[in-house]
Amino acid sequence: ERTARPFVLELHEGDRTMAALLGGKGAGLAEMSRLGLPVPPGFIVTTEACRAWLAGAREPDGLWDQIEAAMVDLERRSGLRFGDPSAPLLVSVRSGARFSMPGMMETVLDVGMNDAVAAALVARGEGRFAWDSYRRLVQMYGRTVLGVDGALFDEQLTRLRQQTGAATDAELDAADLERLTAGFRWLVHERTGEDLPQDPREQLHRAVVAVFASWNGERARLYRALEGIPDDLGTAVNVVQMVFGNRGERSGSGVCFTRDPVSGAPGVFGDYLPDAQGEDVVSGSRSPMDLSELGRREPALHQELSTHLRTLEEHYRDLCDVEFTVEQGRLWILQTRLGKRSPAAAFRIAVELVDEGLIDLDEALTRVDGTQLQTLLHPTFASQEGLTPLAHGLAASPGAAYGQLVFDSATAMEWTAIGRAVVLARPETSPDDFGGLLAARAVITSRGGLTSHAAVVARGLGRTCVTGVEGLVVDPVARVATLPGGVSLPEGTVVSVDGTAGEVYAGQRDVEPSAVSTAISQGVPHTAEISDSTVRAVLTLLAHADLRRRLGVMANAETPDEARAARRFGAEGIGLCRTEHMLLGERRVLVERLVTDDDRAGALAEIEALALEEFTSLLVAMEGLPVVVRLLDPPMHEFLPDLVDLSVEAAVAAERGTLDAALERRLSTTRRWHESNPMLGLRGVRLLTVLPQIIDAQVRALAEATIALRAAGHDVRPELMVPLVADVAELTAARERMEGIVADVARAHDASLHLPIGVMVELPRAALTAAALADHADFFSFGTNDLTQTSWGMSRDDAEANFLAAYREAGILATDPFKTLDEAGVGALVAMAARDGRRARPGLGLGACGEHAGDPASIGFFARTGIDYLSCSPPRIPVVRLEAGRQAV
Ligand code: ADP
Ligand code: MG
Ligand code: MG
Repeated sequence: ERTARPFVLELHEGDRTMAALLGGKGAGLAEMSRLGLPVPPGFIVTTEACRAWLAGAREPDGLWDQIEAAMVDLERRSGLRFGDPSAPLLVSVRSGARFSMPGMMETVLDVGMNDAVAAALVARGEGRFAWDSYRRLVQMYGRTVLGVDGALFDEQLTRLRQQTGAATDAELDAADLERLTAGFRWLVHERTGEDLPQDPREQLHRAVVAVFASWNGERARLYRALEGIPDDLGTAVNVVQMVFGNRGERSGSGVCFTRDPVSGAPGVFGDYLPDAQGEDVVSGSRSPMDLSELGRREPALHQELSTHLRTLEEHYRDLCDVEFTVEQGRLWILQTRLGKRSPAAAFRIAVELVDEGLIDLDEALTRVDGTQLQTLLHPTFASQEGLTPLAHGLAASPGAAYGQLVFDSATAMEWTAIGRAVVLARPETSPDDFGGLLAARAVITSRGGLTSHAAVVARGLGRTCVTGVEGLVVDPVARVATLPGGVSLPEGTVVSVDGTAGEVYAGQRDVEPSAVSTAISQGVPHTAEISDSTVRAVLTLLAHADLRRRLGVMANAETPDEARAARRFGAEGIGLCRTEHMLLGERRVLVERLVTDDDRAGALAEIEALALEEFTSLLVAMEGLPVVVRLLDPPMHEFLPDLVDLSVEAAVAAERGTLDAALERRLSTTRRWHESNPMLGLRGVRLLTVLPQIIDAQVRALAEATIALRAAGHDVRPELMVPLVADVAELTAARERMEGIVADVARAHDASLHLPIGVMVELPRAALTAAALADHADFFSFGTNDLTQTSWGMSRDDAEANFLAAYREAGILATDPFKTLDEAGVGALVAMAARDGRRARPGLGLGACGEHAGDPASIGFFARTGIDYLSCSPPRIPVVRLEAGRQAV
């Protein structure tokens, strides 16, 4: 039978494993039919047919014949006939792709309705039902197949309600709906010159094509780009016998979840709307009742629904969401899929399913991810009694932040540059606002939904964001925002933005760490004692991830405070201590003194003393664990005054006759060290050629600190790392110099000391010559930020604002390579260097530090590539532990 109809499958021929061919909705319907749930009969036109249609822009050979044949079967199963007024079969024609794309594609209900069928129903005394179904068909067919603007139908409907004084659609009677049907048909004709076809088969065929075409609709394409769904999968088309929730008081439609998708709490959860078709529940045209209310009205029905929901949850072993319809007291299930859930619910449900014996802990670990955990770690506002928000909007990007209001991106950037915290408020944002989004602590917009530009970019950047703020009017010219009730918020007003709740508050609210983050860092030992179910679930799954993971998790940390925070979050050492932090800020002058030859020895001595002090406290804070100290890395100019500023200062001084020798010297030094391409300039290991003393000072300080601490009984484990090596000769030169200094220090103290020396692999040439490097390195640490910058040849500081954002907007690049590791390019270099390095030196340690090491989407790559440890910023550590565990099960 299958080969006779390659493009069509009856529901009972499929199952849940066939989502690629049947789409998610079709596979779910098929599986439910198998389980014996009350699913109306139907068939599925496969994604293969859609792909053939998309490729040829016409129907593939034999498709219509197969559909016709399937309709004959459907007539037999339902006992009804398509287009026969005496026993009319109506069908729904529903899109359904492999990956759920809610609301992004089209569905046409009530296909098969026409004048003759309506007249027959009217004659049987079902006028209201007949006209309600008819007007719905005209509306959906008009919009989906003929392309009439949906808002025009809504306008007519609203007008009719006003004229008749009906509060909701439910109060419209048969005569009203008959008029509405006529009005809709007139509208369609006026707009398209076409009438709704009276031939049900023509309706069906054109609806199927419209569903195919909706795959390439603008909304659908945008959604796929955002969610990373491939463009060539196509959608299936589900043709299912209509069951009617709009057939009187004992009929209705609902949507429900097998548990609460927001909190994760057990117990059926959902909405029900009497005398309605399914679309009405989601569209929000009437307020639905809670399922428990249905339970009071129709206890037997509620009981039956609950039984089916339990069957589904036990079968899928996960939270399911379900669409159902009741037709004159009889229950039908129309759709199921795994339910979308909040991050808090994801953890709670996963662990409670383990408690209930439905899944094991390994499985539970795969049900959550690092991105969800990251959300739960965002700080929150401390709760404050009796506080009411200024305004509500959509919770577009979670977090809690406060700052001064600004109304354009330029001001956001200026104010941030002078150290102010700002909240950017815009009517909506566009790619031009990227700089402002980046600068602001939080973003609010008056227009736009959860997929608006502001929302998407903010989530990408981890900025707190509330969109669609009700009643907010932003006037960037007058530099003021207003809210209903005469509230006026001039530029500079401090507001607090709760991106988790979607609320804006006046003034500065106190921020505190989230409950989850507090619990993790306190390392609560007995999880059963913790009352909050989500907190308990996170700790349980983190513990299990630790048991499973093969990747080590280290921290990027410089100060003892950071080191302690990292330990509390579970770091197993410091994978990257950037020594430049010691020399920036006020201490910049030390480097300036060093390079201006003013008292070079004095400056060096100070640098060394500082380093000794800082290394000592850092090593103690990380006692028992490795600390990888990277030699000074940034370009020299970062330590020197800005050349332009200084030139101006000198010019002004010369004008006034106050230019002195000191200023002249500063200017000439700054000029000498100035580089037009500093990131590709004199930095990292290259400093060896011009300023080896600074490296000597760092190594000597580390050796001194180590010997002193070990003598005092401390178990400290420092290692050294050389940045920006391109050639093995640079490494051997650096190594020789460092080993000499370590030996000198050891000799002076009559001690013995060995410090492992590793190399940062962060230039393509280092990766390409990894075998040679491995001969002289105890470990590699992949610096994927610089490696991305140098292999793409794009500046990590400028690319985003200058063109990467526009690339994403235009669909040229889907992801930011500085955020998520580019496996095809940069990843290939990492994999090659790891392989070559290990071949040359089997015990070679392999680490990765930089943004990607803390990015949930990149961790799988590192796990597969055989990296030993990832080093990330302390707050990311739990996320990496969890992801590393997930990768191992
Ligand atoms: P979406 O993917 O947007 O949810 P669906 O294909 O599920 O679209 O259909 C839209 C609405 O129509 C849903 O509420 C669904 O339950 C309802 N519906 C679909 N098919 C039928 C049917 N055969 N009988 C009654 N209602 C249906
Ligand atoms: Mg649906
Ligand atoms: Mg680097």
